[in-house]
Amino acid sequence: MEKIRTRFAPSPTGYLHIGGLRTALYGYLYAKKQGGEFVLRIEDTDTARYVDGSVQIIYDTMRDSGIMYDEGPDVGGNYGPYVQSERKSIYTEYAKKLVELGGAYYCFCSPERIASLKDEDGNVRYDKHCLKLTKEEIEQKIANGEPYVIRQNVPESGTGSYHDLVYGDISVDYKDIEDGILIKSDGMPTYNFANVIDDHLMGITHVIRGTEYLSSTPKYNLMYDAFGWERPVYIHLPPIMKDATRKLSKRHGDVSYEDFVKKGYVKEAIVNYIALLGWSPKTNTEKMSLAELTESFSLDGISKSPSIFDETKMRWLSGEYIKEMSDDEFVERGMPFFKESKVYGKYDLKKIASLLKTRVEIFSQIPEKINFLEEFDKYDLALYTHKKMKTDLEIAKTVLPIAREKIANLKEFTFDSVHDAVMETVGELGMKNGQVFWCVRVAISGKESTPGGVMEIAELLGKEETLRRLDFSINLING
Ligand code: GLU
Repeated sequence: MEKIRTRFAPSPTGYLHIGGLRTALYGYLYAKKQGGEFVLRIEDTDTARYVDGSVQIIYDTMRDSGIMYDEGPDVGGNYGPYVQSERKSIYTEYAKKLVELGGAYYCFCSPERIASLKDEDGNVRYDKHCLKLTKEEIEQKIANGEPYVIRQNVPESGTGSYHDLVYGDISVDYKDIEDGILIKSDGMPTYNFANVIDDHLMGITHVIRGTEYLSSTPKYNLMYDAFGWERPVYIHLPPIMKDATRKLSKRHGDVSYEDFVKKGYVKEAIVNYIALLGWSPKTNTEKMSLAELTESFSLDGISKSPSIFDETKMRWLSGEYIKEMSDDEFVERGMPFFKESKVYGKYDLKKIASLLKTRVEIFSQIPEKINFLEEFDKYDLALYTHKKMKTDLEIAKTVLPIAREKIANLKEFTFDSVHDAVMETVGELGMKNGQVFWCVRVAISGKESTPGGVMEIAELLGKEETLRRLDFSINLING
């Protein structure tokens, strides 16, 4: 059987949108599942949209996310060059061939003439004017140095049909397709031409891309047919939406892989989540590594309907990955965020990690979760009043001195010994556990919520700091 070859063909126009990365991921999964090859091609022929540095972003994102290509500009391969701007002479050669085959023609019309073709809605539709030129006229004009473009010669009637593996049978009337430009006056190809030439020459068997190309595919097929080339198999992917009516776009905030990594999402969770944007596995598991995704990926799980990007769900998945990390891994991966915290360098990060692992979903929550470890200062005494715990400031006044004494007397300062000291306080005062634990926790953290309770916090703080905080709080509540 023929080897499956898929490609990701981004245009370097800035950041790499989540939708683009999903296209890449599906191309990768589809090829890898079947032992095929996945190719990266940079489509940079639209110089007006080119953004400096964005090719590097594409390389970095793909490596970092694990969606790695077998062939591409920076890794090489047998079908290069993999950057379209380096393939200009190839496009010229094939455009000339297509002209000879009748699938395209030279057009010398001036911009003024083109503008004069505007209909009442302001749309321009080329009228095949230059199709009538004789071979001699064309040669003469070229010899005279007249500027020209090469246009596709689309039949005036008939229907172009093909079968898309997701969307089924697609038909477009040729009368609705205009004779679009294939080679611009600067000699550069348009996407409409380059994608066909490259997909064919690079041996791409399955073209996977967004639905925006669903209705232009018949005109690409005309070219495959004119050249006598086998058409690839098409797999168009549903759009990714912000909500029921709006496409996900930069205007709505973060939409790139990089943005989410910066926000502290676990990379594997981002990849895992985008795999689920438009595809669902047959099993009930949603948390899947790249290897597991590769194993279970299949086209019949791809949905036709748009998928809505749900950041909350991606966040939940990120939390699931964090829960399973070792303390060391949490420290290593969360390091940029530990470094942002004022606490950095003062505490044992591994201990903090074991406390936070089940309590954060994204690493950027780290600084806020451990801010109780920072400089301990005045806090709101209203924190002692808690209806459910049945505590208030008066109860704290009774609890804290006793608890302080019991903790001070501890020879060994451990999770268990602190627990015993607080329980002894409960026994001596005949109060409810909640009353005492609540007061002590507020007294040593100054916060309404903390990752972990009295024992975890005390263990992190150590005996000296725990007592210092208790003393501070006793002073504070006694005004
Ligand atoms: N350069 C095109 C884009 O970024 C690629 C479309 C395709 O995959 O054919 O939309």
